Amino acid sequence: MSSRSLGPTLIAIGIVIIVVPFLVMFFLAIGPLGWVLLGGAVIVLGIVVSLRESPGYDDVDRSNRINCDDCGARIDADADTCEYCGTAR
Ligand SMILES: [Zn+2]
Repeated sequence: MSSRSLGPTLIAIGIVIIVVPFLVMFFLAIGPLGWVLLGGAVIVLGIVVSLRESPGYDDVDRSNRINCDDCGARIDADADTCEYCGTAR
């Protein structure tokens, strides 16, 4: 164990003990098709989140982007200034 307090861990365990039976009942109620749909939704969500968190991800077209000379952020190759640090190019 680390030197951190046991309190937050105990609180988390208590919450888990309260929540898990409800989750089990929920999963039993929705049945196998519900598990697949819910699991699939979580997987898709995880893929979307990891794509968004990956370095260099951007909604706009990435084909014409370069790294800022000053801060290294991805900016438009034809931008006059860096949109992150404001350095003139
Ligand atoms: Zn910059």
